[in-house]
Amino acid sequence: MHYVVGALVTGALALIVLLFGGCLQPAQGTEGGGDPDEGTGDKRESQRQRLAQRLKALAASPAPTDLAMGAMCYAAIPASPVADYVCPDCGEKTQYADGPGRGALGEVEGCRRLVEEIDELDVSLDESELCASCGGAEKPQLILAIHYEDEDTPRRVRGVTQRDLRLLREFLDGEKVHTDSQDFESPLKDYTDRLAEILGTRQVTRANLQARLAELAQTEPPTELAPGAMCYEIAMPPERAEYICPTCGERTLYGQELAGLIEWDLESCRRRAEAIEGMDVTLDESELCRSCTPEIEDPTLAILIHYAGEPEPLRIDPVQPADLKLISEFLGGSLVHEGETGFETPLVDHMDRLAEVLGLDAPAETVVEEGA
Ligand SMILES: [Zn+2]
Ligand SMILES: [Zn+2]
Repeated sequence: MHYVVGALVTGALALIVLLFGGCLQPAQGTEGGGDPDEGTGDKRESQRQRLAQRLKALAASPAPTDLAMGAMCYAAIPASPVADYVCPDCGEKTQYADGPGRGALGEVEGCRRLVEEIDELDVSLDESELCASCGGAEKPQLILAIHYEDEDTPRRVRGVTQRDLRLLREFLDGEKVHTDSQDFESPLKDYTDRLAEILGTRQVTRANLQARLAELAQTEPPTELAPGAMCYEIAMPPERAEYICPTCGERTLYGQELAGLIEWDLESCRRRAEAIEGMDVTLDESELCRSCTPEIEDPTLAILIHYAGEPEPLRIDPVQPADLKLISEFLGGSLVHEGETGFETPLVDHMDRLAEVLGLDAPAETVVEEGA
């Protein structure tokens, strides 16, 4: 069983949890998904890969000429200082003044309409962060859920705007021009980065990451490391926790054994998976729902990694919040791993686990392997 420790950090962030005995040790059963080797390129392409191809084609296409300049004069409409969000699910009102959430609130109506206009892809808008009784969040954002036809877990894109959805609709409709809300036109190919981010089609190959990991192995570890918080509060996992499945909406009740995973790890993993930049990693929480996966006895959290050129996503299981942090740090070029209480260690010390969670080979001690 896990022991959970909370830490008070400078009074600002109240409780941070740390799982002993799991976060730094290699987990078992890491290879998953029955995914053999890369290079079997002639399997049927997934919907995500087909979109990646189309995005590539768009990026390579010539920019359109004859673009409209749009309206040159418009009246600015002052936003009212306070506005209500009325939740379509529960009917409750949440009031927003200036500050976090006000921006997302202004996007809701337009985003709802745009989501309706997208039919090639199964997308839905998740507004739950805006409703204080349904979900709520410190900084509420709109989330776009993309339900790829061949993937079990929807891809969730946090912080979508009307512009994003307009780009998506234009791309799916095969247009070459982006028209903004002021009818100002620009080449759609200028937005391929953002589109790739939304669709989750960024092109990172496994070989590329393997080379970067070998580079890390050769890098001198940093010597100045933060010691982290020195006082802890012990927190026991709650007696029980309820899991609400974002895919089917069913509730699954868990006792103390898994309550910590649901109450603490899940939210943290969701946030951290969304924060990973530079490659496509999706949190796979499908095992937590008894209705979606009734056959699973010991549910765990997993990640799905979509490598460029590989027909199937790679499934890594189980993962913990610290694993996702390692991935972010590695992709962000950090040489330091920050533990849950602010305690820092050289990232290079976590290379074996990093290799495992990315489905890579652990680099040999002193041998540099050129990206295969
Ligand atoms: Zn609600
Ligand atoms: Zn479910």
